[in-house]
Amino acid sequence: MAVFLYFCTPVLIIIFRCSADSFITARFRSDTFNFMIDQSVFQNKTAVYFTLGCKLNFAETSAIGRQLLHAGVTRARKGQKADICVINTCSVTELADKKGRQAIRKVIQENPAAFVVVTGCYAQLKPEEIASIKGVDLVLGAEQKLDVVKYLDDLHKKDKSEVVTSKTHRIRSFVPSVSADDRTRYFLKVQDGCDYFCSFCTIPFARGRSRNGSIADLVLQAQQVVEEGGKEIVLTGVNIGDFGHTTKENFIDLLKALDEVDGVERYRISSIEPNLLTDEIIDFVASSRRFAPHFHMPLQAGSDTVLRLMKRKYDTALFRHKVEKIKKILPHAFIGVDVIVGVRGETDDYFSESEAFIRSLDFSQLHVFTYSERPGTQALQIDYAVDPKTKHARSKTLLDLSDEKLHQFYESQKGTRRKVLFEHTKRGQRMHGFTENYVKLYADYDPSFVNRILDVEVGEYDGGEMAMKATTMKVQING
Ligand code: SF4
Repeated sequence: MAVFLYFCTPVLIIIFRCSADSFITARFRSDTFNFMIDQSVFQNKTAVYFTLGCKLNFAETSAIGRQLLHAGVTRARKGQKADICVINTCSVTELADKKGRQAIRKVIQENPAAFVVVTGCYAQLKPEEIASIKGVDLVLGAEQKLDVVKYLDDLHKKDKSEVVTSKTHRIRSFVPSVSADDRTRYFLKVQDGCDYFCSFCTIPFARGRSRNGSIADLVLQAQQVVEEGGKEIVLTGVNIGDFGHTTKENFIDLLKALDEVDGVERYRISSIEPNLLTDEIIDFVASSRRFAPHFHMPLQAGSDTVLRLMKRKYDTALFRHKVEKIKKILPHAFIGVDVIVGVRGETDDYFSESEAFIRSLDFSQLHVFTYSERPGTQALQIDYAVDPKTKHARSKTLLDLSDEKLHQFYESQKGTRRKVLFEHTKRGQRMHGFTENYVKLYADYDPSFVNRILDVEVGEYDGGEMAMKATTMKVQING
C-alpha cells in the first residue's frame, strides 16, 4: 500500500533545471506548495553517503542517513551498487570545491544507475556548477539539506538536474544532528550558521545566519547517544559560542544542562571563538564533572593589524588572556589553535609579528590553513596578495612550530595518570585513543578495551605512532 506524506514549506525556494550545457530556467515555489511523496518508492532501496569537510557535515550526513533509513532506505553494503547516492560537499577553499567535483564524478561512475543528490556548502554557493556535472539528478541547498526525503520523488534519473536552494538570508531551519565516527565518539550539532562575516570567509553565505537547537532537544540527543552506548560527545557548530540566538538561551546554560546527563563519560567543546570563550565557561569546564580540559580556539593571525583586516572580533591581548586563564586553572589542558597563513594584507613584517606572538603562547597544537581566495568575500578588496611560494613557506614554518609544541606538551604528560577512551581497531592492530586532555595514546590490541574508559599511566612517546604509550591500564568501574 502506498503511504503518502504531505509537507508544506515555509520558505521561498528557487528552482533551476539545468542540463549539461547549463540551460537554466528559474521558477519560485510558493510558500503554500504541498509536496506529496509516495514512500513505497523507498522500499528495498539502498544508499551510499559521501561527506567532505567538517564534523558538522558528518553529523548532518548522519541525520540524512537516519531520515532515509526511517523511510525504508538501507545503507548499501561495500561493493554493492546503490539506488541513491548522497554527496555532502564543502566549499571552504577552492581545493574543497575541486575535491567535491572529483567525489561526485567518482560516485556517479561507481553507481551509474543511482539517483544522485548533492548538497552542502558547495551546493549552496555554486549550484549551477554542480548541476552541470552529467549524472547529477538533484542539487539541494543548505535550507533543504536536512529534508532530502521531501525532495526525492520517483527516484528516476533525470535528463536535467533539478536545483533547489534558498537565498542565504532565508536559511532558517535547524535540525539537531548527531554522528558517530566509530561508535566511541559522537558529534552533536548544537548550532549552525554565523553572523560574523569575517572578511576571508564564505561560511555565512553558505550556511546562513546563526541559529541553534533548544537546550531541551539537545539534552534529548545526548540521552540518545547514551542509549546507543556512546561515551564521548563533541559539541559542534559553525560558531558554537554564539549559541542561543534562536531560542533565547545561552551557551553556558547548555553546558550546565548537558553536564547533568547521566551516562555521558565526557564532552569536548570543539572550536570556539576566543571572544565567546568567557572566563565563566573556562571556570565551568574546570569544575565540571564531564567537560574535558580541552580547548580549541581560532586565532587566525598573531598580528593585530591582520586581525583587523580579517574583521575578527578580538585582538592578540584578549587571545593571550584566554590562553593564560586556561593554563592557570587547568595546567594540563590541551589547547589547539587555528591559524591562516597568506591572507591578503599579511606582509612579511606582519607574518613575523604573528609568528613571534604564536611562539610566545603556551598552546599544544596548531592547525595551519593556507588562505585561498573566495569569490564574494571582502578580503578581495585588500591590495596586498601573498604569492603561493611565500604562503607555502609560512605554512611550513608554523607546522614545524606546531610539531615542536605538541612534542613539548606530550613530554610534559609523561608519567601522569589519565583516562583514555580506546577506539575501534582492526584485529591485531595497535589500538589508539585519547585522554581527557587529548593526548593520543597507543596500546597493544585488546578488544575488551574498545569503548571503555581506562585508567592509564602515560608512557614514552613513539614518533612512528605519533602517540604516547599507555601503560599500567586499569578498567574504570562502570567504564
Ligand atoms: S566566525 Fe568568521 S571565520 Fe568563523 S564561520 Fe563566522 S565568518 Fe567564518
